[in-house]
Amino acid sequence: MSRPTVAKINLENLAFNLASVKKFVGEDLQCMAVVKADAYGHGAIECSRKLEQERIDWLGVALPEEGLELRQSGIRTPVLCLGSFFDGQENLLIENDLTTVIFRLDLAEKLNSVAKNLNKIVNIHVKVDTGMGRLGVRFDEISEFAESLKKLTNLNVDGLMTHFAAADNLWENDFTNLQIQRFKEVCDIFQEKGFRPTYRDLANSPASIAHPNSRGNMVRIGGILYGLGEDILPKNIKKPDLKPVLSLQSKICFLKNVPKGETLGYSRSFVTNKKSLIASVPIGYHDGLPRGLSNAGRAIIRGQFAYIVGRVSMDWILVDVTHIPEISLNDDVILIGENNGNCISAAEIAEKIDTISYEITCGISPRVTKIYQY
Ligand SMILES: *Cc1c(COP(=O)(O)O)cnc(C)c1O
Repeated sequence: MSRPTVAKINLENLAFNLASVKKFVGEDLQCMAVVKADAYGHGAIECSRKLEQERIDWLGVALPEEGLELRQSGIRTPVLCLGSFFDGQENLLIENDLTTVIFRLDLAEKLNSVAKNLNKIVNIHVKVDTGMGRLGVRFDEISEFAESLKKLTNLNVDGLMTHFAAADNLWENDFTNLQIQRFKEVCDIFQEKGFRPTYRDLANSPASIAHPNSRGNMVRIGGILYGLGEDILPKNIKKPDLKPVLSLQSKICFLKNVPKGETLGYSRSFVTNKKSLIASVPIGYHDGLPRGLSNAGRAIIRGQFAYIVGRVSMDWILVDVTHIPEISLNDDVILIGENNGNCISAAEIAEKIDTISYEITCGISPRVTKIYQY
């Protein structure tokens, strides 16, 4: 027995979302499922196993370390390290059959020389910065970079990729189209220089859905696989059906009557305006329930909404359950999820604290037990 605070991960819904997105973008496209950051808090190993069963073409991680974890759990699907690698990780990549993104010539040279020593040809994907301004060879410097790559004969450029800065924002369509145009020019340059990369990919979740002209021959999707479409896809566009994969729940572990005029929690930020019934629930900001939900968040208990009162503390929240009939100890408390037609999404929480749903699910800490539903 342990604390009843759990994240339930519905892997059937993950598979549903993948099928739904594939149907939407076209079954002929290759598909990379992005499982970096522990699959946005959903559990990278379990999610990757399910996606592998569903015959995903690629898995995308941020770091070689994340790729290694997948390999050590028996995942055989091709893995791309989206954030490239760090000096000294060349052997780790090659020995574990992890493909890396490349945008630094010095790292390309190091990888090439390790590959040469092992007598191997290693595939790489070249990342081009067409306007994101984060990682990638700048589009206007790509010609020299391609020339230098030609000399690294133990590397094979198997992919060209770029990443959008604002594909989720239809006001930025001109910029997104400029990025697409720059990427096309980059592809032409590689073609002229004799490279024949298998993959040309640009699109993340919002681009895959909102910008059909950005799909190249592979899409790299994260958020929508986990059902996080609500706040990261533009409003008022055609979208695939998506189901949330994660729900976050706990139970009432203490119940008490409190008279009118009492203060509750740290800083005494809430005062009862009536005789109240208050539930204590063992989840707090260490679990990833943001402190910004103090006096602002809500839960679903016995099918009804109930509000967080007072400060969210490290390990506990207080919920006003005065209005809920027959409330009792051990009743389920849903922080993210759905019951009786009422729903709290990660996006709802995100909006309240001025962030995006990704940060909410990524923030659910390892202290929260994960339960996988197959
Ligand atoms: C994280 C990431 C993605 C996935 O983005 P989503 O919005 O979650 O689909 C795609 N490409 C790159 C390079 C990324 O870093």
